[in-house]
Amino acid sequence: MTNAAPLFQRVCLIGIGLIGSSLARAMKLHGLAEHIAISTRSAETLAKAEELGLGDSYTLDAAAAAQGADLVIICTPMGAQAAVAKSIHDSLKPGAIITDVGSVKATTIRDIAPHLPGGVHLVPGHPIAGTENSGPEAGYAELFPGRWTILTPTEGTDADAVEKVKQLWLGCGANVEIMTPEHHDRVLAITSHLPHLIAYSIVDTADQLEDETKKEVITFSASGFRDFTRIAAGDPVMWRDVFLTNRDAVLEVLGRFTEDLTALQRAIRKGDGDMLEETFARARAVRRSIIDAKQHIPDVKPNGDKS
Ligand code: NAP
Repeated sequence: MTNAAPLFQRVCLIGIGLIGSSLARAMKLHGLAEHIAISTRSAETLAKAEELGLGDSYTLDAAAAAQGADLVIICTPMGAQAAVAKSIHDSLKPGAIITDVGSVKATTIRDIAPHLPGGVHLVPGHPIAGTENSGPEAGYAELFPGRWTILTPTEGTDADAVEKVKQLWLGCGANVEIMTPEHHDRVLAITSHLPHLIAYSIVDTADQLEDETKKEVITFSASGFRDFTRIAAGDPVMWRDVFLTNRDAVLEVLGRFTEDLTALQRAIRKGDGDMLEETFARARAVRRSIIDAKQHIPDVKPNGDKS
């Protein structure tokens, strides 16, 4: 807890799942907002958020929550961003800042910007932190420290607005990087989106194997398969939206990946041990770089629960 004046007077969170509730908790912990107004789609989730004491006011009416807010953070799946932005248009006060946490950035700008009134600043964001769990109970304040948040303001975005969103994330313990939305989407296609696609594909292939084999897949999962199942346990709606919104960048890296996979397939068939060993050695070195950058520890809840 800090004694400094809060960074924002009224923050409106729309969507209070894993990321929204983690932000609510972190903002409370670090005293970043005087008032946190929470809105979400279902009465059940809203009641849960209230029971957990995540905010200061609760409503199913996003426009009412956004009224008078100096910061609105959209924490819904990306497919809902356009409708949410449209619904709050009339409530936004001049000078308000809108940000989001969506995993793809070019479409955030495409979907949100047209619905904002003049004098409102859009500063898209993406915390590179998360788990495969969803909902308000899944969040925790310690999700962000040591992780990166990428902001993708477009040219001409108000510099003060960018700075305030940056301060929010720094206040939550994150590191902040600024890049173009297109660059963000290309980087995330390889570091996050393709690995998830591969994981979904491997787990689905195993699921379609004969019943007997399937049992053994579960029994002996610690040999590698288990780690893919964790990655493939993410929310299906969120990941559907990722692939629908980052289509071009994902298809590009997928093309490169399938070529490289075919080369490995050929090396196995030809018994080309040198090629296999060289490829695996390069991959192992990447792991060492991730450890050196201290990005190797999975996001783990304070109670030690990785799931
Ligand atoms: P989540 O746990 O499933 O929560 C989503 C929240 O959005 C829920 O409160 C849900 O409400 C609400 N919502 C859905 N549709 C809505 C609508 N039309 N209007 C208002 N609220 C709506 O999802 P999450 O994991 O926090 O992900 C949220 C965003 O963060 C996504 O854009 C995702 O790309 C991004 N992100 C996720 C991760 C991750 O690891 N999960 C990491 C970084 C960024 P109800 O429960 O009331 O239906």
